[in-house]
Order: sequence, then C-alpha cells, then structure tokens
Amino acid sequence: MLALSCVVVKTKKRILDFFQSVKTFCILELTPLKMSKLKKRYIDIFVSLFIASIVILGYHADQSKGQSESKVELARNSSKSMFGFNPDSVHIQPNVIKKNDIFGSILSENGLTTNMIMLIEHEAKNIFNIRNIQVGAKYHIIKKHECDAQPLAIVYEPDKYKYVVYDLRDSVSVNLVEKNIEICEQFAYGKINTSLWKALEEQGVNPSVIDLMEEALSTSVDFYHTKRGDQFKLIYENKYIDGELIGMGKLIAASYVNDNGASYSMLYKTKDYEGYFDAEGRPAKKTFLKAPVKFSKISSNYNLRRFHPIKGKTIPHLGTDYAAPYGTEIRSVADGVVTNSSYTSGNGNFVKVKHDNVYETQYLHMSRFAKGIRPGTRVKQGQTIGYVGSTGLSTGPHVCFRFWKNGRQVNHLKEKLPTAQPMNMTELPAYFEYRDQMLLKLNQINFNDHDLVLNDDVNNQVIKP
Ligand SMILES: [Zn+2]
Repeated sequence: MLALSCVVVKTKKRILDFFQSVKTFCILELTPLKMSKLKKRYIDIFVSLFIASIVILGYHADQSKGQSESKVELARNSSKSMFGFNPDSVHIQPNVIKKNDIFGSILSENGLTTNMIMLIEHEAKNIFNIRNIQVGAKYHIIKKHECDAQPLAIVYEPDKYKYVVYDLRDSVSVNLVEKNIEICEQFAYGKINTSLWKALEEQGVNPSVIDLMEEALSTSVDFYHTKRGDQFKLIYENKYIDGELIGMGKLIAASYVNDNGASYSMLYKTKDYEGYFDAEGRPAKKTFLKAPVKFSKISSNYNLRRFHPIKGKTIPHLGTDYAAPYGTEIRSVADGVVTNSSYTSGNGNFVKVKHDNVYETQYLHMSRFAKGIRPGTRVKQGQTIGYVGSTGLSTGPHVCFRFWKNGRQVNHLKEKLPTAQPMNMTELPAYFEYRDQMLLKLNQINFNDHDLVLNDDVNNQVIKP
C-alpha cells in the first residue's frame, strides 16, 4: 500500500489538484538557474500563479464549488504558458530530432537565413552548443500563425529538466531555462513476500530506493539476506516537473523490522552533521567505503605471491584491483587530505589521501584527476578524485587500490576498520527532537495488514533521549 501525500498530476488540466498539492505538501524548489530575461519571466509567472492559487484556494476553502470555478479557471488559463509563450495565441508545433538531423538544417527549413543561423550559433556558444543535439530529443517550432514563414522562436529540450529558447522576435537571443521541480513527500509501507525489490514494486515505489535504504540502514540490516515477512516503512521524496513524475529525490526516513527487531534511520543535516543516523544518533556511514568505484568487480586481489602480467615474474600485489570502464568516477573511500597527485611510470596518474594518523589510501592508473585534486585538497568520503584509466604499468582500465596502515600496505578487505564517530552529546537533544518527529510520521503510515502490530512495536521501541 502506498500512501500518497501529494496528488500526482497526470495532466496540466488538473491544475486545481496540482496547486492544492503544491499548496499543502510541496516545497517549490527553484533550481539554480542562469539568470536570463526569459527565465525571470518564467519564474515571475510561476510565482504569481503560485501565490494567486494559494490566495484563491485559501479564500475558497469554505466557498461552494460553483463559486470557485471561475477563479480556478483564471489560474488554469494563465498557467498555460509554454516556454514563456501563451499557447492560445501562438502555434506550437512539437517535433523530435531524428537520425541525421542537423540543427542548422532544421533552422533553415523553418525559414531562418544563414546569417540568423550563424548568429544563433554565436549566441548559443556559451549556453548550449547546437551541434550537441540528440536523436530523440524534443524541439518545438513556435509561430504566430501556423502558415507564417518565420517562427517566433525555436525551443529545444536537451532533457526533461531544461529547455533552450532560440528567441527570434527582436534580435536573436538564446536562453537556457531550467524547469521548476516540485518535490513531494511520499510514504510507503511494505512487507516482503518474495524479495525487497518485488515488495517495493508492489507498493509502486521505484526499486532504485534500495540503494538509499542500504545507505540508510546498512549498519543494522543485511540487505543481501532479507527474509519473507520483513517489513519496511519509508518517507521519501518524488520529483515532478509540470505534474509529471520525473524521479525519486531523497530518502528522508526509513524503518525496517525483521527477526532482529526494528531499525530506524533518519536523514539529518546540520552545520556539523550530514547523513543517516539511527534512533540513538549513531551514524549509518562507515568510516571507509568498501570500494573506490561503484559497480565494479575485483579483477585482482591483494596477493603477496602474484605473477605480474607485464613484468612476467612473481611480484607481490599490494593492492586490490577494481576493473571498471574508462572514465568511471573514482571516489575517496573516506574523508581526508590529498597528500599526492602525480604521475610515475609504474603507478601512472595516482592520488594518495591521508585519512588520519593511521590510514592512507592510494588510487592508481587514473586516466585523469578530478578538478581541484592536488596536494592539500580536503576530500569527503565518496567524493570523486579521479577517473578510471590505464596509465602506467597496466593492461586495461582499472583502479589499483592501495590501503596503507601505519606506512605499510595491507589488505583492506581483511582489515578491521574503526567504526564511525557517534554524534556529539551536545547535538543529541536536537537530533532526538527531529527523530521523534520522523518516528511519529513513520508510525502514522497506514497499512491494511491487520496481523501486524508494527505501530505498537515502534512505540515501545522508541529510545528515550
Ligand atoms: Zn593493482
């Protein structure tokens, strides 16, 4: 069962529902935009509409349905702006970029002179390179009248998050506009019958949330051994553009009940803390990530008697090799300071990070370093420090990951690593207050299964500050 806290808007026509949901549950998030005239206008229109709809809906909360109809219509009419144009007074023709389409040819087929095309290319240079159009992407020809030779504007949509307006009305101007993303909080409850994946799918939750559940609960739940009967509750965000679901946002809180009891995790952020914490304020984060690249496989283990494929003799392999495609992001496995980022004939491009007085890690054979990675740079756990390559003595794209303990290279997979530092005592009261709000929300997630007494369990297990 999935409890929606936000009305999903299927079409723009359901503008009333949309604004009601926006008004009640959504945080309107204006993504950082490149300031442009058009964008300002777009925001202005949206913000005025948003405020207007709140006023209208608020005013009409106690009024009859009939009375509110015309005002809502007003919001509905003026909300129709598409790419900054009123679709009632212009003709918008949607198209899709086909194989072998060239943007210049599209422009010229739509009545633009060579001079105008050159001007557009020049204006778009720092905004969106028109040579980068993708097959399957949408574009729209906007004309005053359908039969006009020259368009008012051409709009290209590189992806669902933004569009580029080539405005031809006065002089040629090019604007990149990022669409408004509405974030809606959602709740889900599920019980595992066959697999967690299936249980999530059954509840209409995108199973990609498993990654976040692992991040949130990995210290208490073994997601490789979930069992039939395990139950979970989630508070998470969905992202919408123009009322259309475009993806999942953050996982805000989660609970998981299995044979070992109930586990909780809350996403918490303050000046000093950021991440998932359990009911007692212990971080879900591990001090060291297991691997420096996601979705990689170990191609060669730490081995003191390895036969070296290039040198043709037995040479100890003091690292763990992770094979991954060229260009894959390499992340620092823990917080630390970069002590070296250079090139040697054996290591190729490599980065070394010092984490504390005991541990250092080293990442070899990079194709290149990430921006800003040089000795002295502070890095966070998970931060990209470089990209997979095959520089130095290497037979293919991989990272040779070296783990140093007190100046000696050890096998990190055999190392008993320190646990993460608990939250400071002074932070705990504020955290517990937040945790209790989240627990209350989690407890309020309804479910139909009458065999369950999760609500009581949860209440009994709330840990007192
Ligand atoms: Zn290696």
